[in-house]
Amino acid sequence: MKQPNKNGRCQQDGGRRSIGLRTKLFFCFLGFSLFAVAVLWVFQMLFFDKFYYALTKKRMESVSSFIARSTAYADFDQEMESLARRNAFCIRVYTVEGNAAKTLASVDSEIGCVIHLLSNRQLNELFDDTLKDGGRRVAEYRLMEEDFRFALELDEAAPPPGAQLVDERLVYASLETSPSGERLFVLLDCALTPIDATVIVLREQLSVITLLLVAVSLLLAFFLARNISDPLATLNRAAKGLSNGTYPENYHEDRYREVEELSETLSTAACELSKVDRLQKELIANISHDLRTPLTMIIGYAEVMRDIEGENTPENVQVIIDEATRLSSMVQDLVEISRYQNTKARINPAFFSLTASLSSLAEEYAALCAPKGYTVLSEVAEELFVLADQKRILQVMRNLIDNAVNYSGEDKTVILRLIKKDRVGRVEIEDHGGGIAEEDLPYIWDRYYKVEKPHIRGVVGSGLGLSIVRANLELHAAVYGVESELSRGSVFWFELPLVDPPALEAAPGEPEEAE
Ligand code: ADP
Repeated sequence: MKQPNKNGRCQQDGGRRSIGLRTKLFFCFLGFSLFAVAVLWVFQMLFFDKFYYALTKKRMESVSSFIARSTAYADFDQEMESLARRNAFCIRVYTVEGNAAKTLASVDSEIGCVIHLLSNRQLNELFDDTLKDGGRRVAEYRLMEEDFRFALELDEAAPPPGAQLVDERLVYASLETSPSGERLFVLLDCALTPIDATVIVLREQLSVITLLLVAVSLLLAFFLARNISDPLATLNRAAKGLSNGTYPENYHEDRYREVEELSETLSTAACELSKVDRLQKELIANISHDLRTPLTMIIGYAEVMRDIEGENTPENVQVIIDEATRLSSMVQDLVEISRYQNTKARINPAFFSLTASLSSLAEEYAALCAPKGYTVLSEVAEELFVLADQKRILQVMRNLIDNAVNYSGEDKTVILRLIKKDRVGRVEIEDHGGGIAEEDLPYIWDRYYKVEKPHIRGVVGSGLGLSIVRANLELHAAVYGVESELSRGSVFWFELPLVDPPALEAAPGEPEEAE
């Protein structure tokens, strides 16, 4: 979290900023598309021939074994025709018996197949080489033209002068066995020239694709980056307002989920900050009003007592004492709440009698409030023990009783009740005053919250009492709440788990202040 500097300001450090989201996304997209294009180029340029050879060889291999199997078919010749057409291969199949070979099938898919031009010597050599290579061989031949056409293997002697190269061909030779056990010599032949034509076309296409890809990726990067960064920039501008103390009601950005959530979070933060800001302003106004009134009274009465003879009466002294006590309790509240804000409050649990504590408070308040016409009743059942921080629980009960007295109705009656419910003790503080409106109920536990009321001296407090109650009860993980109805009064309550009396004997002890 950002800490204020030594002047107490939470300023931005004006150091070097990293590059914006828009530029970053823009370069990422551009980089990615250039990489994709580069990969395409490398594969097309460097490995295309290798891929073509590998794939054609694989296809020839499977066609060759298929041919061997289909010798058993009745429509063998038709099968050969369609195979040749489908694959753009020339096919020649021999049956081999000893040194004799007999043509079983001979099909052309195009003019210029070299397998039909091979001389007996070349055929014998190819057969021997195939045998040597384990029954499969791939060879490249040149189709030459002089007065007539002839085939030359690539690594054979140079072509005779005057002969022209017509085409380059790939020949696949294999030795197979037919289902009837005959020995077959299968020759397949296809052109190498289409490869070059294809490569040229592909390269042309690739240039167009590259241009298209770069253009599209630039456009995409631009729009996407704008779509992502614009709402963020808007939210950032609006959020800057928070530090200046302007709390816009609604940040609304719904272009995508994350930004929608961020705008909701900012709206909530702005709402909470404006609430705290308003409450703090109200608190300062109220506190300064509440501090000024007793101070004026104290000064006024003290001056009268000093200047006018016979005014130094016990009643006047009592007014000064009462007003000073009021001041002291307000300051105490403020000290208490700042302690919760600044330190990690802990509780110091000990066994004590909830019944005895409530009864003694009832007696104390009855005696204190009787002169002002208040009745404080106590409805306490059997003796109930709890394991809790006695000081804090007493403070909770005092704050609740103070409120009940302050806000009590015309009957000026406050009832303190202790009820046993299974394994918990429930403390209730009841008054029959004006009650609290339903819409105010969720907020009364908030710090500085005061229900809007005409400012009645002696009744309106600092708005901290219930937040101190809440902090104390939450430290005990206690359940608490209020039931209130306008013009009928309120019942504030909390519950603490009970402990058995024998446990009390085992671990008695005076609670100590936990700071
Ligand atoms: P305060 O010092 O103003 O009493 P609290 O935090 O104790 O502050 O209470 C918050 C607000 O809850 C009060 O301003 C008051 O309007 C309301 N309130 C608390 N207790 C009662 C009660 N017993 N009857 C009616 N209203 C109450």
